[in-house]
Amino acid sequence: MKDRPYHFVAIVGGAIAGSVAAEILAHHGIRVVVIEQNARPYGKIEDGLPRWHREQRKQEYGRIDARLKQPGIFFLPSTKLGRDLDFQDLRDNWGFSAVLLANGAWRDRELGMAGAQEFVGKGLVYQNPFIYWYNHKNEERYTGPYYQTPDDALVVGGGLASMDVVKILQLENYERALRARGVQTDVYELEKKGIPAVCKLHGISPEDLGIKRCLLIYRRRAQDMPLAQPAKNATPDQVAKTEATRLKMLRLAQEKYLFRVQDRRMPTGLLVANGRLVGLKVAETNVEGRKAEPVAGSEYELRAPMVISSIGSVPEQIPGVSMKGEYYDFDDETLPRHAGSDRVFGVGNVVTGQGNIRSSLLHSQQVTTQLIENYIGVGDEDAPSTRFCAGAQARGAAQAQAVQDRIRWMPRPSYLEIAALEQRIRALQERVGYSGDYGSWVASVPSSDTASQVSRPTDIAPESTRQSSLCSAAFDCAPCG
Ligand SMILES: Cc1cc2nc3c(=O)[nH]c(=O)nc-3n(C[C@H](O)[C@H](O)[C@H](O)COP(=O)(O)OP(=O)(O)OC[C@H]3O[C@@H](n4cnc5c(N)ncnc54)[C@H](O)[C@@H]3O)c2cc1C
Repeated sequence: MKDRPYHFVAIVGGAIAGSVAAEILAHHGIRVVVIEQNARPYGKIEDGLPRWHREQRKQEYGRIDARLKQPGIFFLPSTKLGRDLDFQDLRDNWGFSAVLLANGAWRDRELGMAGAQEFVGKGLVYQNPFIYWYNHKNEERYTGPYYQTPDDALVVGGGLASMDVVKILQLENYERALRARGVQTDVYELEKKGIPAVCKLHGISPEDLGIKRCLLIYRRRAQDMPLAQPAKNATPDQVAKTEATRLKMLRLAQEKYLFRVQDRRMPTGLLVANGRLVGLKVAETNVEGRKAEPVAGSEYELRAPMVISSIGSVPEQIPGVSMKGEYYDFDDETLPRHAGSDRVFGVGNVVTGQGNIRSSLLHSQQVTTQLIENYIGVGDEDAPSTRFCAGAQARGAAQAQAVQDRIRWMPRPSYLEIAALEQRIRALQERVGYSGDYGSWVASVPSSDTASQVSRPTDIAPESTRQSSLCSAAFDCAPCG
């Protein structure tokens, strides 16, 4: 084996799962290259966790940085699999021992109504780009689509991510309204103290601000919302307790952020005017277990300046990566091997979509509930703090360990192949201007977590003055950001 000294593995995605896997493999003497589409490798933490989670974001960035700085790990930023690199080429021709997909779940599940996709950017917005915009909109270098946050928007969802969406809408609208009254507040204060408390501090009643408030619709009952999860094999009593917890979380969140909710509601059709989506036809539902069926004759119209669909995230399609339905075709969740090859594996959210908190390896039921309450903003501030991402980290570690055990038995590349691989990686690093010094690279990338920001007029201006003359969309996406 002298001429075959170690394995070399490519990991696609450098966030929680990718960095955990890289560290574990490197500790076992395996050489790793982490291929990351963005300049910074923080994934859902930077682009999915709303930016008011400042402290948590900072801590998780630190953890990812510490892992990726380990010896034996090459970092290849600003390089996207499927755009800059071909999956089949990486798998079959580069000479890696194995390829690990750790690229998360970034594709919004489609709203699922015929013709709806036609209105993306014309009244219909999806959660992932919306939250990405929200987190990055004040950065000078942000060039993505620009979204607006009109009052009275309609959100289709019910899970944690949809709670983030309604909070963004509410916080933006109340911040604007309060500023228009001369009150200097910001999203951080409003999120922490809650909208009614901030209004009260300034002797204002929230009702006097004339905000209609956004509406969240959910197809099952409010007590079914996937906010808290019962234990596996829960007794009827335990299920009832979880349902009560969900209702309490929802009530507290509504009291603090003032959004409206209609449960047992399902979109059944599109309302369209002048080429834009202007709302949804909605039916009441009959809920039995997990099944929700529209009730005949119960349909009505919900008009809204913007509809945001927040019904789940699935992995993005990459040419050559075969799919089973909405997901990549992995054969097992413990050792997720891709069906197309015995050298391709998955770790993290890419395997099952958004992390399932129920399967958290670290947290008890009680702690999990508490950390979700804290995440939503309705928890007990004095309770000991827990890490929202610890479950994701532990799950990624278990999968990476299983992959490591498998890789040990695979053929290693030769010295020559390793030298060729390193040369190729260095050439790609040079192409994107990466010198090989991880610390100085991440420090040099401007972001909303660092100082280089612009304050866009849209943060404070009333809706009517916000539109660029270049922009034809009335409320949501515009290429003028
Ligand atoms: C709303 C919300 C709900 C959450 N719910 C849970 C939960 O229920 N349970 C739980 O444990 N955790 C949850 N989390 C926490 C945790 O943030 C995620 O589970 C975790 O961050 C996922 O990590 P990941 O590394 O698998 O994926 P990601 O953080 O998505 O990382 C994927 C990385 O791959 C990169 N990438 C994507 N495509 C490519 C490509 N083609 N080429 C190169 N790079 C690519 C991305 O840029 C990114 O850096 C939630 C987070 C949010 C925001």
